[in-house]
Amino acid sequence: MMAVEDILDSPRGGETSATTLDLDRPDVAAYSALASELRGRVDGDVKFDEYAQVLYATDGSIYQARPAGVVVPKDADDVRAAVETATSHGVPVLPRGTGSSLGGQTVGRGCVVIDFTKYMDDIVDIDPEARRATVQPGCVQDHLDAALADHGLKFAPDPASSNRSTVGGGIGNNSTGAHSVRYGITDAYTEELEVILSDGSRIHTREVVLDGDEYDSILAQDDLEADIYRTVRGLVENHESEIENKYPSLKRSVSGYNLQKVIYENDDGEEVINLSKLFVGAEGTLGVIVEATVSLVTKPDETALALYCFDDLVEAMEAVPEALEFPVSAVELMDDEVFRLARESEGYAEYAEPIPEGAKAALMLEWDDELVDDFEAAVADTNAHFVDAGAAFDVLEAYSEESQGRLWKLRKAAIPLLMSLEGDPKPYPFIEDATVPPEELAEYVQKFEDVLEDHGTSAAYFAHAGSGTLHIRPILNLKENEGIEKMHSITDDVTDLVVEHHGAFSGEHGDGMARTEFNPKMYGPELWGAFKELKTAFDPDWVFNPGNVVYRDGPSDPGPDSDRGVGADMRENLRYGPDYQSVEPQTDLDFSDEGGFSHLVELCNGCGTCRQTDSNTMCPTYRASKEEVQTTRGRANMLRAAISGELPEDELYSERFQTEVLDLCVGCKGCQSDCPTGVDMAKLKSEVKHQYHQKEGTGLRSRVFGNIDTLSELGSKLAPLSNVAAELPGSRLLMEKVLGIASERELPTFSSESLEEWFEARGGSSVSPADARGKVLLFPDTYTNYNYPEPGKAAVEVLEAANVHVRIPSDLEPSGRAAFSMGMLDTARDRARHNVGRLRPYVDDGWSVVFVEPSDAVMFQDEYLDLLDGTAVELVSGSAYGIMEYLDVVRADDHLDFDAPAETLTYHGHCNQKATNKDHHAVGVLRRSGYAVDPLDSSCCGMAGSFGYEEEHYELSKGIGEILFGQVDESPGDVVTAPGASCRSQLGDRPGESRPPHPIEKLADALD
Ligand SMILES: Cc1cc2nc3c(=O)[nH]c(=O)nc-3n(C[C@H](O)[C@H](O)[C@H](O)COP(=O)(O)OP(=O)(O)OC[C@H]3O[C@@H](n4cnc5c(N)ncnc54)[C@H](O)[C@@H]3O)c2cc1C
Ligand code: SF4
Ligand code: SF4
Repeated sequence: MMAVEDILDSPRGGETSATTLDLDRPDVAAYSALASELRGRVDGDVKFDEYAQVLYATDGSIYQARPAGVVVPKDADDVRAAVETATSHGVPVLPRGTGSSLGGQTVGRGCVVIDFTKYMDDIVDIDPEARRATVQPGCVQDHLDAALADHGLKFAPDPASSNRSTVGGGIGNNSTGAHSVRYGITDAYTEELEVILSDGSRIHTREVVLDGDEYDSILAQDDLEADIYRTVRGLVENHESEIENKYPSLKRSVSGYNLQKVIYENDDGEEVINLSKLFVGAEGTLGVIVEATVSLVTKPDETALALYCFDDLVEAMEAVPEALEFPVSAVELMDDEVFRLARESEGYAEYAEPIPEGAKAALMLEWDDELVDDFEAAVADTNAHFVDAGAAFDVLEAYSEESQGRLWKLRKAAIPLLMSLEGDPKPYPFIEDATVPPEELAEYVQKFEDVLEDHGTSAAYFAHAGSGTLHIRPILNLKENEGIEKMHSITDDVTDLVVEHHGAFSGEHGDGMARTEFNPKMYGPELWGAFKELKTAFDPDWVFNPGNVVYRDGPSDPGPDSDRGVGADMRENLRYGPDYQSVEPQTDLDFSDEGGFSHLVELCNGCGTCRQTDSNTMCPTYRASKEEVQTTRGRANMLRAAISGELPEDELYSERFQTEVLDLCVGCKGCQSDCPTGVDMAKLKSEVKHQYHQKEGTGLRSRVFGNIDTLSELGSKLAPLSNVAAELPGSRLLMEKVLGIASERELPTFSSESLEEWFEARGGSSVSPADARGKVLLFPDTYTNYNYPEPGKAAVEVLEAANVHVRIPSDLEPSGRAAFSMGMLDTARDRARHNVGRLRPYVDDGWSVVFVEPSDAVMFQDEYLDLLDGTAVELVSGSAYGIMEYLDVVRADDHLDFDAPAETLTYHGHCNQKATNKDHHAVGVLRRSGYAVDPLDSSCCGMAGSFGYEEEHYELSKGIGEILFGQVDESPGDVVTAPGASCRSQLGDRPGESRPPHPIEKLADALD
């Protein structure tokens, strides 16, 4: 069997030695010589095929350009080899972190992308005394912060994307976040770097005293490094007055190169040159960073927030400079469009609830305990200023972590809320981080509104008002020429405005393809010329990320044999555009709520949240593999390429697409809730798998797993013989050979008495319906019924103890979950129809349908509504509950007496229930019964029904499981409990561990 890497590595269409490179649509074969040379020199992964090109063709921006291929280096030597090899083939190089950039600086036509996130993501050293940390470039910022927290330290720049963005990418973009008012931006903290230059040499950048011995010895080297030092010093000295005039005096200005910061007086009063400052914000255009040493700040222990509400946006803007007079650590803005969208959204409405009617804008001020001693007194001061004597009409104060968290949630909801707008017009980022001095904000905003009005569009306003950065995303349709021309014209007008107001075109996200075109306007001809000279000094052949930050003026410009770096028209390389077309497939499932299949696919904007690994459910497969193809983003990009003609016709139904792109999605539904725009990959996968089965037929194993109930019934009838048979020597290998079931897995054993038989044998419910508090149909799911009936028995015991009448219906079919996951939608629908038909009369008569197995409960609650239409399914779906959910919702435990063992339970919830916001119930009920509970912030367990049993998925399943095991090991709990049958199998497969109980079993144990 081939590993994903091997498959990705094998170029489609074979290798040729062709040398003509088409940069618009790089031909895989044209790069075969480069690819094989790279494979010979690089220890890490080398991926040169069409899938890799598609996966790395986009980032968080509106742009798309296919690279030649991707190198995933293991160390700095790999990086050097990649740079040397690529440049010797005349192919540009593009370093990349998470690819969450918004300006298009992480995509490049025909480049070799160097992806640092898989192997080069370590923290090399933390020196708490010196307050410094050294990291590899792919280190995720939040991972660094987590390690620093033990020392009471943090890395000050805090982009909103810090849970997946890398330190290398933050340096590349000169990133910053809500606290730039207090801490400034990344260039202030980047002290020393190890960098691979365009000739493959490695340099160490640090403070070098001008004209000191060290400086002289560098210059005496007579190499590229010496040339760079000479040129940079010359540029700074020759353009001193223009540097003084043209760089805005702002907390954040990240357009162009940092010529104003590279020579400075250090803490010892010496005049030093530090090239590190130039690499910050250079967007990978000057060299490739292989190690970074950054300085750190102390981490405040506590903070407080106050949200001032204004009935006019401009009045809120006018209050910003006044807010900065107070000792605040952040000043953030939200407008009424953000409030409106939040109120209308299911996920965010609760956070918008406290915002008073009539608030057109709100300023959120934050204080920390390093700045003020008494939060309430500090807030009283600002209240007196803004409410009693100022234009704010109301204030919300937040002191607890929870209440502050809610306000930050609302503030951070702006982008996801805006991006999930239905239809083609979307609020796109292209001039979204222009920055002006805070005292000019009010006038700037008024004029910005005029620009929008002139172009017949609108926008929402939010973000970092305190440092003069407003995120303004005009709503445009970039699938039409008109929208694209408007984008260009708006940018032209707004950049004029920004210059007029002494601002920067980018105060946060960098130049990229969106803003580089306009840099000459901001810096004028003299500095623009200096930028080009600087670029040529570092990178004589313009091999590093050409066309970003700086560009060549025309083909006559000096340069080798390509048009590399010529021009930078923001209208080129767009992800969408007038030629973009997607085929809306005829779908079996109902995608009307999502605006159609292709709209759901296109909702992925590349933000990279599915690459975060520390909380929520999304995306377990990426967590275990660190492969872009195994992120929700990767899958969505591949689907979009397939439906828009980017990939060959019918690629969607190719074996390769199925195995690499779709089959590795475990269908946990995590993305349905955790993706900010709600890309529901589990649903998309089921639909495409269904279409695939229609075309190619359904394989034996899928049919076996999709109909597992029939086999389980037989197994149960033949137990214990069936259990012995499964353990006979050779039987596992046989199953691996015939069915592709991993021989390493222990198969579930069969119970000789099914749950239904047990229930019948005990004479049904002991609570008569007439006296009962409620009536429950307990769904006999396949696993509980035939394999492990104990949780079902416990459910009956607890329900009856709460005086609920229970019945186990014998005329139902399995929920169809297994069939649905495998894309056997006809089978799933038949089952749904059958079950809904049988259950409707009961539901009309006041019965609830209760499930021990969470995936079956969610199948009824969610997927049935995609499979069937009409009142019957809505009613049945609305009456379906997980067992713990039911007990919580009807407060059944109020009627129970408990004497719970003095235990702490480690609770691993089910991913399907997390995705549908049903997972909290179990924790509440268990706690009320007397247990201490440690709920894990865990993802999918990796079994995902049949996934973990499948031979080719065993390793990935185990890898995902290991992450969960680590969390379990770290938990202080005495006993692990998990509602999912698959999760219990995975947890029970740990060496020396037994299958953990279902929470309902723990609740039954706690009954007095
Ligand atoms: C929803 C959302 C919110 C965001 N919020 C913020 C915010 O609050 N503040 C902010 O500043 N940004 C923000 N961003 C933009 C982006 O996330 C940040 O700039 C982030 O720091 C980029 O990190 P990354 O790992 O994704 O870098 P990438 O996007 O992969 O790379 C960024 C740049 O750095 C270069 N680069 C990467 N690695 C290296 C290296 N080893 N050597 C040299 N160059 C390198 C790349 O070539 C590229 O030009 C946001 C983006 C999104 C989608
Ligand atoms: S799938 Fe969702 S979370 Fe992932 S990049 Fe796309 S929009 Fe962002
Ligand atoms: S369903 Fe789960 S595994 Fe699949 S893409 Fe979404 S989060 Fe990842």
